[in-house]
Amino acid sequence: MSFMDALRPPPGLRVLVSAGASGIGAAVAGAFREMGARVHVCDIDRSALERLAAEAPGITASVADASVPRDVDAVFDDVKNALGGLDVLVNNVGIAGPTGPVEALGRGDWERTIDVNLNSHFYFAGRAVPLLKASANNPCLIAMSSVAGRLGYALRTPYASTKWALVGFMKSLAIELGPHGVRVNAILPGTVEGERMNGVIGARAAAAGVPAQTMREEYLRKISLRRMVTAEDVAATALFLCSPAARNITGQAISVDGNVEYL
Ligand code: NAD
Repeated sequence: MSFMDALRPPPGLRVLVSAGASGIGAAVAGAFREMGARVHVCDIDRSALERLAAEAPGITASVADASVPRDVDAVFDDVKNALGGLDVLVNNVGIAGPTGPVEALGRGDWERTIDVNLNSHFYFAGRAVPLLKASANNPCLIAMSSVAGRLGYALRTPYASTKWALVGFMKSLAIELGPHGVRVNAILPGTVEGERMNGVIGARAAAAGVPAQTMREEYLRKISLRRMVTAEDVAATALFLCSPAARNITGQAISVDGNVEYL
């Protein structure tokens, strides 16, 4: 196999991306589609899925809340119909959760963050693993963690807790599934340009009582490369992890963040 072929995910790869209607998930779904994969996405936002269907015809979709087990079961019924099996799960779903000192956080916000960011991975893995074990196409599970799964993140304890938990989940699954030929890795994006990061910076600026622009400059100072990453940078890493070139990469937490030095 040439190096060019080794760096391409095989055509016809069957891929499921959770929370794939916008943001990083949509970039990942679009990248796999562009490389000739068959892609199914799920998302809680019906209108965002309709926009994606218009922009990227051929991607099939389910409306689902990734934190609700019966919704996840319905997604896998749709995957069976649309793809007939699964070679790649990119479990991308994750919400920012609340920002604030731990004693001011509501229990409901804490629980919602754990439900969406962590429990969903249990539901998706439970349904995906039998399909991945049955795949002969370099099967791979990718968990979307965060730089907040590598560094402590003051005022974002629920989010950081879930993103660290995903690294433990991924490393354990890599050991469990390695003998079955299934690889499991986590991608840890840093500060990704876009609406979500604008919201995160805004919330943090408000909590600290400083202007959003000051907080933005503070964010850039923490990054060795002094720039944010793009959703496409993250998508390219997901493609690489599903290519033949990555066939011996498993159990790894891979940062795509320009080297965030502290949070
Ligand atoms: P986003 O906030 O842009 O949302 C992406 C999609 O998630 C939306 O279409 C939304 O409808 C969907 N969604 C939200 N809750 C859902 C639920 N319960 N069930 C199904 N779908 C749901 O997210 P993003 O910024 O693209 O982030 C994607 C992943 O990357 C998350 O796990 C996030 O924690 C992680 N991440 C993002 C950044 C960043 O800077 N954007 C940095 C590090 C890690």
